[in-house]
Amino acid sequence: MQNKTLYTIEIERCTMGRSRGKSLQYYIDEKTGCYECVSHAGNEKGYIQITVNGKHRTAHKYLYERFIAKVPENLKVMHICDNPRCLNVNHYTIGTTGDNNDDAYKKGRRDQKNRKFLTDDEKLALCEDKKAKMTRVKLAKKYGIGISTVGDIWKAYKEGKLQSVSV
Ligand SMILES: [Zn+2]
Repeated sequence: MQNKTLYTIEIERCTMGRSRGKSLQYYIDEKTGCYECVSHAGNEKGYIQITVNGKHRTAHKYLYERFIAKVPENLKVMHICDNPRCLNVNHYTIGTTGDNNDDAYKKGRRDQKNRKFLTDDEKLALCEDKKAKMTRVKLAKKYGIGISTVGDIWKAYKEGKLQSVSV
């Protein structure tokens, strides 16, 4: 990234005399149009964390609110580009937490701990993967369920009771 032009977004100066926080710097990925942040670290999910007026915030929400509109309380700012480090507000949209989960789930990147049930099709797909020798750990991760639940589904499948197992 040596030859890439760096751009800066200044964090708004606050009125209370606290420091305004480090400016965001990014370069533009020509292929994707993503603004790749180089100045700040991501949080555990990869989202860029910034400090505005002494408060920690995620950069994408901050930028959305600054350049587009206030985010309604029950909605979330999502990355259409699926790149949590991206600072390009044109790559943002807002949706419900459910949208975000569905979207993430489809893209297979979700931290799947909270997903509580699978459809019958998903259970079948899991068993197909199991037959193809995918490990329980990988299956649990892929389908967002506990390792023991993978065992339950597999057992039910072998007993021909897959439809009745509720996970
Ligand atoms: Zn992007």
